[in-house]
Amino acid sequence: MTDCIFCKIVAGEIPSYKIYEDDDVLAFLDITQTTPGHTLVVPKTHVRNVLAMTPEQAGNLFSKIPAIANQLTEKLGASGLNILQNNEAIAGQSVFHAHVHLIPRYDDDSEKS
Ligand code: ADP
Repeated sequence: MTDCIFCKIVAGEIPSYKIYEDDDVLAFLDITQTTPGHTLVVPKTHVRNVLAMTPEQAGNLFSKIPAIANQLTEKLGASGLNILQNNEAIAGQSVFHAHVHLIPRYDDDSEKS
């Protein structure tokens, strides 16, 4: 999709700090760091959100989450991690290319969620 910011990141047209990449997904740092290491995992093929995914698309995305989440948690010394995923504007989605937020949590962070 030509006007999609995450498609442009996948294509390398907009810079990102890459955390992980394979044939199906790209993980990169969120431009707004809720906590240090806040990462977005996106499918490389454009799909609006989970509500629009086929089971295969969902499997390709979500099967990668545990390994990326563990890598982040271990490398950053986090004590835990929130996984957040918004679908449609009413639910807080602001970029309409499916993505999963990985938000590392630290013993001394100030996030209440
Ligand atoms: P929200 O903005 O409410 O978190 P989403 O769940 O749709 O809604 O999240 C979109 C995320 O994309 C936001 O956390 C935002 O900071 C991030 N974002 C927007 N543009 C970029 C960018 N160029 N690089 C990295 N992250 C981005």
